[in-house]
Amino acid sequence: MEWKVNNLFCQLPSIDSLLRQPALQALAGEWGHVRLVATLRDMQQSAREHIRQHRQLPAWADDWAGCASAQLQQQGRSGLRPVLNLSGTVLHTNLGRAQLAESAVAAAALAMRSPVTLEYSLDEAGRGHRDRALADRLCQLTGAEDACIVNNNAAAVLLMLAALAPGKRVIVSRGELVEIGGAFRIPDVMTQAGCTLHEVGTTNRTHLKDYRQAIDADTALLMKVHTSNYQIQGFTKAVSEAELVALGEEAGLPVVVDLGSGSLIDLSQYGLPQEPMPQRLIAAGVSLVSFSGDKLLGGPQAGIIIGKKALIERLQQHPLKRALRVDKITLAALDATLQLYRQPDKLAQQLPTLRFLTRPQAEIHAQGLRLLPQVEAACGQQFCVALAPCSSQIGSGSLPVDRLPGTALTLTPRDGSGSTLMAFTGKLREGDVPVIGRIHDGSLWFDLRTLEDEELFIRMLGA
Ligand SMILES: *Cc1c(COP(=O)(O)O)cnc(C)c1O
Repeated sequence: MEWKVNNLFCQLPSIDSLLRQPALQALAGEWGHVRLVATLRDMQQSAREHIRQHRQLPAWADDWAGCASAQLQQQGRSGLRPVLNLSGTVLHTNLGRAQLAESAVAAAALAMRSPVTLEYSLDEAGRGHRDRALADRLCQLTGAEDACIVNNNAAAVLLMLAALAPGKRVIVSRGELVEIGGAFRIPDVMTQAGCTLHEVGTTNRTHLKDYRQAIDADTALLMKVHTSNYQIQGFTKAVSEAELVALGEEAGLPVVVDLGSGSLIDLSQYGLPQEPMPQRLIAAGVSLVSFSGDKLLGGPQAGIIIGKKALIERLQQHPLKRALRVDKITLAALDATLQLYRQPDKLAQQLPTLRFLTRPQAEIHAQGLRLLPQVEAACGQQFCVALAPCSSQIGSGSLPVDRLPGTALTLTPRDGSGSTLMAFTGKLREGDVPVIGRIHDGSLWFDLRTLEDEELFIRMLGA
């Protein structure tokens, strides 16, 4: 027996002999000698392991080149795999939120390839400030005096608090002490920013007099937080931004609003539920408004702060701004995204987020009818394939209770078995472009609202 195992070990080719095979020489040309040798050593190791355990050569041992090629491909896959998001959540935080417009993708690529005038002004050949060009564009779009861009909206809130209220009290309604998820909680951000949270009112009702009575010599800010991922209904009262602005003016205190998503356009024109617009808050006199770049705005991850010039200046000069600033790639993508807002009549075509949100239900249904036979051909043996009405959500804490009616393709295992379903979703995850659906009621649901590349979808189902 020992003799047989030793004999098998002897049959394993040496690295040198493998490297003389033309197919492996071609792989060395493609992947480099070092990486190929490392892969072959790993394969030798696992072949020895296989022999020790099973007393035979592994099945792939007659095709080292094919196996090495497959392994290199596998390792060469990006850690960030592109997926088809058919989960029914348009802005899916775990899948990277907004899909950028083509013009934003092109702008980001250009900025990656080339030096750009990031902090360099061509007129004076001197140093400019990196948010300048975008700040001007944001002012144009929103009527704000100035703007500041940071890494995300959580960073925007942290910077506003740290720069405007260090060691001081910030008054917030108890109904607005939001947790966004991923450890963003207003009370904790206050602590990190070195501020003291002064809660006023109750969970369901906060009045202007609650804010007024709370103001003391230690108060530095009045703050409102948009309750973006929940709604309080019933016997409720919240103070409007305009009322708070009037109180702030009376007391000489700035009013800041964390708007979360914020939409630069009125979504009700598309029949969508309305989301507060930053420019309306600016018009109401709010000192600073912050919102995300990759939620309803439809751009790259960023935190945007717009508002009064003197306050923005304080943010720009705070040491945290240096730590939270964005790079040229984000700025380029955000700039191109904002440009689209100057052609509002074309926005619903050019901005993928808005394109998905505004897709007519009839169009989604027609797509479902068109795809049905192809999906049946791909997986009809194992699954009963059907169309079903579904409701998509916007996601990322935008419009939390609203749903958009659409159509889903549903795959129900013919044997009614949950393990058939799990095996299939497992296969889909292994594909070149994993298809992400949602399991509901013993079926796999693919919400078609966000499906554009139909050919890819069918190919991944069949693979
Ligand atoms: C989403 C959200 C945040 C966090 O924004 P990020 O861009 O994810 O950092 C903060 N506040 C509110 C109200 C939000 O909705």
